Amino acid sequence: MKKKNYLHNPATLKIDLMLRGTRIDDPVVKAWACGSSGVDIMLPEKTLVNIPCSEEFTRNSPYLIKKKGSGYLITDGASEVEVSLVERPAFYNRRTASGVPLSSIAVVHGSYTVITPSQRCDFFNRSIECKYCAGNFNVTGRDGVVYSVEEVLEAVEAVLKEKASEIIYFSIGFSDSDDGGIEFLKPYILAVKKNFNCLVAVEALPPKKNRWIDETYALGADSVLYNLEIFDKELFEIICPGRATLIGHKRYLEALEHAAKVFPSGTVASHLIVGLEPPGSTCMGIDYLTGIGVVPILPIYRPSANRALRIEPLDTEIILPVYKHLYKSIKKNRINVNWVRDISMVTTPVELKAIVNGPRQRSIVDGFYKSRLGKKTAWGLATLRRKLRVIDREDDSE
Ligand code: SF4
Repeated sequence: MKKKNYLHNPATLKIDLMLRGTRIDDPVVKAWACGSSGVDIMLPEKTLVNIPCSEEFTRNSPYLIKKKGSGYLITDGASEVEVSLVERPAFYNRRTASGVPLSSIAVVHGSYTVITPSQRCDFFNRSIECKYCAGNFNVTGRDGVVYSVEEVLEAVEAVLKEKASEIIYFSIGFSDSDDGGIEFLKPYILAVKKNFNCLVAVEALPPKKNRWIDETYALGADSVLYNLEIFDKELFEIICPGRATLIGHKRYLEALEHAAKVFPSGTVASHLIVGLEPPGSTCMGIDYLTGIGVVPILPIYRPSANRALRIEPLDTEIILPVYKHLYKSIKKNRINVNWVRDISMVTTPVELKAIVNGPRQRSIVDGFYKSRLGKKTAWGLATLRRKLRVIDREDDSE
């Protein structure tokens, strides 16, 4: 059978690269690129991708990153495409006043920067952690590092000054409290909102009661993610024992549905990991989530040495229809997709358009939201909407 060539369309190439990874034939790139989270590359059409390059499966990848003149290219042996390296932010080389490397606090992934103030997930203490988890949150038996509000503010200032990202994305592991960790994140969110004019997203596990979702919105979060990861209930129970026993599949869906009623369209999202369940099951998850107004985000599972959880066979031909299905479902349910874009780790809904219609199909709305006027409009609207909704909900509770 003729080998499929994805190099002509950056959106499909991004998926194939995330699935198969790359080898690297340049000592400079090799030296700084292959940490635990791959190498950030800009493909044509301003398509940003984070490509796995250190995991074992990447050794068999047909792709190779090579130097060509003063630039770089990716080749599959038969054809090639020019690409550019995404430079590491300069602040990665600096430390906070207290001596913490800023790169330990803030990790840039294109349009958003992840900050994890506490590297603790209590699933590890009970040995019920998610089976695909990289273990970065494993502080079993210890308290682990907790960054102070001041340290986080220093990191956010560095991100924004350098214009490294536009969205600060707070992430937290599991803690056995009713609020899903939002009380812990509260001082960080309030301080960032008070000191900077930026957008804030919260990635957490669903709280037990909906009032904590209302609280998350009232605090100033512009977006929330409760990542279900696997739609199939049985596989969810097997692969995510902690989430299944202490939160439950049903609670994920209830919390997402409630959040989508509180937050503006397109700002509530949930990951479904491609490769951990059959593609048909991911499509059912897409239908369900878009039906309740939630944006499904589809990262591709990266198997590490002892975690061969991937559904096989899995190749780009098999998973492209899943991404096409996502695009159609989002359109059908008229969900705003401007929030989830320009992310290196996943294919965003905006890039899906290029998968369905071919390259050069990025939305003109994209340009608008990137302009100064567009950003101002987005922030202004977000603040106004929040005020109105919070007042609304206070009235309801009387
Ligand atoms: S919730 Fe699961 S994936 Fe997230 S840190 Fe805990 S064990 Fe890892």
